[in-house]
Amino acid sequence: MQNLIPLLEKTFGYRSFRPGQQAIIEKIFEKKPVLGIMPTGGGKSICYQLPALALPGVTLVISPLIALMKDQVDSLQEMGIAAAYINSSLSQEQWQQRMQQARNGELKLLYVAPERLEAASFQQLLESLPIDLVAIDEAHCISQWGHDFRPSYLKIPELLQGLPASASVVALTATATPKVADDICQLLKIPAENRVQTGFARENLAFEVVKEQKDLYLQEYLKLNKGQAGIIYAATRKEVDRLFYILKDGGFSVGRYHGGLSEAERSSNQEAFLFDQRTVMIATNAFGMGINKSNVRFVIHDQIPGNLESYYQEAGRAGRDGLSSEAVLLFAPQDIQVQKFFIEQSQGTIAYQQQEYLKLREMEQYAHTQGCLQCYILHYFGEEAGDCGRCSNCLDQREQVEITLETQKILSCIKRMGERFGKGLVAQVLTGSKNQKVLQWHFETLPTYGLMKDWGQKELTQLIDYLTAEGYLIPSDGQFPTLKLANSGVEVLKGQRKVYRRQAQVRQLVADDALFERLRELRSDLAQQQKLPPYMIFSDKTLRELADKQPQNSLEFLAINGVGQNKLDKYGAVFIDLIQQSSQTE
Ligand code: ADP
Repeated sequence: MQNLIPLLEKTFGYRSFRPGQQAIIEKIFEKKPVLGIMPTGGGKSICYQLPALALPGVTLVISPLIALMKDQVDSLQEMGIAAAYINSSLSQEQWQQRMQQARNGELKLLYVAPERLEAASFQQLLESLPIDLVAIDEAHCISQWGHDFRPSYLKIPELLQGLPASASVVALTATATPKVADDICQLLKIPAENRVQTGFARENLAFEVVKEQKDLYLQEYLKLNKGQAGIIYAATRKEVDRLFYILKDGGFSVGRYHGGLSEAERSSNQEAFLFDQRTVMIATNAFGMGINKSNVRFVIHDQIPGNLESYYQEAGRAGRDGLSSEAVLLFAPQDIQVQKFFIEQSQGTIAYQQQEYLKLREMEQYAHTQGCLQCYILHYFGEEAGDCGRCSNCLDQREQVEITLETQKILSCIKRMGERFGKGLVAQVLTGSKNQKVLQWHFETLPTYGLMKDWGQKELTQLIDYLTAEGYLIPSDGQFPTLKLANSGVEVLKGQRKVYRRQAQVRQLVADDALFERLRELRSDLAQQQKLPPYMIFSDKTLRELADKQPQNSLEFLAINGVGQNKLDKYGAVFIDLIQQSSQTE
């Protein structure tokens, strides 16, 4: 293989390959079809963008979303690379023009949506192009076992058959269970030995599960991490709206995104987020696929998603730039019901629904595991690893408070009430309320009545929520679930098991840094002038390195990770100026 490092350095500003990149690129040059499985942020794009520059013809990139294409093409152009996309948003004229450019060899990369492949006329057009490489992004979309199956991806094998023998094929994905990976290989005729898989682990992501006072936690978190970009995912549009209004009222810089908003509102909200004008996006899972914003510092799930594939993909949108970031799951047992409802409504076959219930159970177990959270996820994807040392379970040094006695009081009360009521009434009985419903059922005669008089009603329901989340209580289905004792709860009552509680802690992600902030402002101004998202000019990681190393001339500037020749020419002078000014005023 020719030495591509100089090209990598000159164009992208990177001095070495990330794990997996070189192995995948070598296979491409050996004309062997290859499947690359790398975590989000692992650097999949380079695996086909770099060969595309080195190969004489054009590289066709099949990518599922229009938003993603535009973003990628803008980034490439910003680095001085000739790239274009064709999709349904273009006029006939633009379409023709781009195809012509591709035929003339003026384009190095051409992005297309898979839907295009279904048109026979398009297939013919493709035959007129000098295609050297086909890259299939988000390759898991081809598998019905995957969580994001797209029927149009099934057209890809046919397309590949029509290619000249000299063309190479690379399929890339971040979320493939072993079963999905097998499926991709079979459909795209990729031999097993041509699979390159790097670890799924995200070294810069810290996972965390929080089980109480979700709204309060969110507000504290946003307060402490003000100015940092983040995504908050909720399962329903209604919940997105609810959070949006409370957080907006709380004075936070938030936007929202879901399928119930108009196209115009969605894209303007998305833009405000990409351009760092609103720092936090509250969204359903309709948001995010194809969002390459690299400086997302946290992803918080306000409600549990349906399976770990979705979770890892969504959580993985944090920290693509490699800087420390967090993925927090706020867990409440009733949110499981929302996902069950989705499965019931999905109109899938019984087998499909059973599979989905199973996936949901594995997702729920994630919230309960005592072990390393990263390990739990990796194990699900077929990989074994040592403890990450970063997640909330690994780091848990918060003081534990024993609450066995309180738990016994609560469980005993629930049992005496016949396991037929919800947390609200249980809390009223325990605090000795004279509420009509309490009296109507004669609960004031129970020995547990008023047993926790010192507790506030709210405080106590939170404790009951915690016990439910920890699995000592089993909620019934429905909006106002009744509570039953789980086996572990019975063991607590019998004195065979102790219960501990830890308070959730909010962590500050990034320390304040004056020069970094000034660099950020400059980037923001430049971005606005050119109508580009700031992260496309430089990633946060590059800014951080600029702030740390403070380059004083072009040569030093070029040595910063993420600075290629094109970026140096365009931005070097203004950034060096700012750095010099800052050091004089200090
Ligand atoms: P993925 O598609 O796998 O999620 P990307 O291709 O978007 O990841 O890359 C994630 C980030 O890593 C980008 O900011 C990219 O520029 C950066 N990156 C990729 N390859 C390298 C490399 N060899 N050295 C340094 N940074 C890299």
